[in-house]
Amino acid sequence: MTEQKIFCKFYNYEKKEFRELEIDCQLNVYPCCYIFGDKKYPLKHNLLDTNMIEATREIENYFNEDMWNSDEPYHKCQEKCKI
Ligand code: SF4
Repeated sequence: MTEQKIFCKFYNYEKKEFRELEIDCQLNVYPCCYIFGDKKYPLKHNLLDTNMIEATREIENYFNEDMWNSDEPYHKCQEKCKI
């Protein structure tokens, strides 16, 4: 079993999906508000260009247990939610 390095409080670990996502005033979608304005954020989802189903699918494809437990988790997850 992989050692858990990061705990995301917005993620449902049983269902393997986010319980909620965050949307800013410009309709950008993020996994959580810690990431608003982060210049290193690797994804971009704006609801003027995509929909919530697609944004959710792509966010969950990156933000998941494999990434959180990897040797190089996303820096904000490591900074804010390391256990
Ligand atoms: S920084 Fe990462 S681990 Fe923490 S709440 Fe946001 S998405 Fe989840």
